[in-house]
Amino acid sequence: MTDYQAMYERIRRIMGELTPLTVDCGVCCHGACCKGDDETGMRLFPHEQSPLPVRELPNGVRLVVCDGTCDREERPLACRLFPFFPTVDHKGRVFVEADARALRLCPLLTHSEELVFDKRFFKAVKKVGRLLAKDEECRRFLEETTAEIDTYAAFLGD
Ligand code: SF4
Ligand code: SF4
Repeated sequence: MTDYQAMYERIRRIMGELTPLTVDCGVCCHGACCKGDDETGMRLFPHEQSPLPVRELPNGVRLVVCDGTCDREERPLACRLFPFFPTVDHKGRVFVEADARALRLCPLLTHSEELVFDKRFFKAVKKVGRLLAKDEECRRFLEETTAEIDTYAAFLGD
């Protein structure tokens, strides 16, 4: 049985301070992904705990609802991965893909040719994905989210 607390602690250590760029990407977009309101939030992974306010939707989805500021140490995994995601295929292989749900918001995805990304971030996301995929519930979450990302990508004509 998975010790989720230990797993998420390990994940936090793997991600460390890594972000997609080696510089603060929020400078160019004024932190567009952190403009929280009551209607939106970052989805928590299965069994992920957060010291921030959490809202549970009728379908069981748990969202961290923030006011656009947080202690970086406390931000949920979804915020650490944004705007990328560890997707999985039907064989359980893990990839790191742009999260199409962020396409309309995040300049990292729309200006990717002009940017130099930090390879260490992508390696870490893949490692995190592989770790999550070992747990059945988390793997299912990755599969469902991958399907959601694919649907968005298809809708946006990616
Ligand atoms: S929207 Fe994209 S570029 Fe802006 S702060 Fe968030 S991750 Fe960085
Ligand atoms: S939890 Fe923190 S990092 Fe995540 S959207 Fe809110 S302010 Fe931004």
